[in-house]
Amino acid sequence: MKLAGLEKTSLLDYPDQISAVVFTQGCNFYCPYCHNSQLITIESAPNSIMPETYFFDFLEQRQNLLDAVTITGGEPCLQPDLKEFIIKIKQNYDLKLKLDSNGSNAAVIKDLLEEKLLDYIAIDVKASLDNYSWLAPAELGLELEKTINLVLNSGIDYEFRTTVVPGLHDSKEIKKIAELIRGANSYYLQNFRSSTNVLAAELRKQRSFTEQELLEFKEIAVSYVKKVIIRD
Ligand code: SF4
Repeated sequence: MKLAGLEKTSLLDYPDQISAVVFTQGCNFYCPYCHNSQLITIESAPNSIMPETYFFDFLEQRQNLLDAVTITGGEPCLQPDLKEFIIKIKQNYDLKLKLDSNGSNAAVIKDLLEEKLLDYIAIDVKASLDNYSWLAPAELGLELEKTINLVLNSGIDYEFRTTVVPGLHDSKEIKKIAELIRGANSYYLQNFRSSTNVLAAELRKQRSFTEQELLEFKEIAVSYVKKVIIRD
């Protein structure tokens, strides 16, 4: 595993659970609003930015203070030994496992679900399929559709989520995204926050959506999914 970092305690990443968050290096997307752009490159990254031993030593010491581990990225499904890594966590620690993914590798997610290795999965639905080309190779949209169907039928806890950015998302776009995940249990609308880390320079001073705008998006999405939550 190419591990890039560890957040030792998070109350935000896994709903109602205290989780450690481990970041993987490398991503196949280039979202202009990415806050983790230092995690995108995989080829030039060293093999082990954070040694696995560091992570497992940490779990050994802190497992009693945690409910769960969240694996995020980058894109975790690009790691060839992701499954073995998850198995090692599940076999050795009494912790729940959450995976964050951009949904671009349905086969990996199918295998993890079939092997019952995940307790919670969060899938980014970043745009309508027509618009995926501004953040990812176009063919990955087909993978996303497969992933959405797998997750909808998985029987585990899950969320779909969209980081909404002025200039990239509007009411029509939210409607198309909500149609893609029709029938889902939960959908999170995450408000964009500008920062100097954001990948695209033109978004580093972009505004966030107002509360009123977010509520309008929620009103649209709630016709298609059971629960819409705003993360502002
Ligand atoms: S999928 Fe995530 S890590 Fe990859 S570019 Fe997009 S926001 Fe960044």
